[in-house]
Amino acid sequence: MKEGIHPKYHETQVACNCGNQFETGSTKEKIHVEVCAKCHPFYTGQQKNIEAGGRVDKFKKKYGMEK
Ligand SMILES: [Zn+2]
Repeated sequence: MKEGIHPKYHETQVACNCGNQFETGSTKEKIHVEVCAKCHPFYTGQQKNIEAGGRVDKFKKKYGMEK
């Protein structure tokens, strides 16, 4: 294994649109995200609604009901 091939992996400050900040391991120095563990639908319990909406869209497209 040669050294210097892999990017440096270090603690990275992540800033979210919701204002939450946390640290994670990454090769990037700074990360800005639109959703994090605190505001992501998966964690806020809204994921089911999103999935349901997706199914409705597929249903509409399948039967040509989308206008
Ligand atoms: Zn967030």
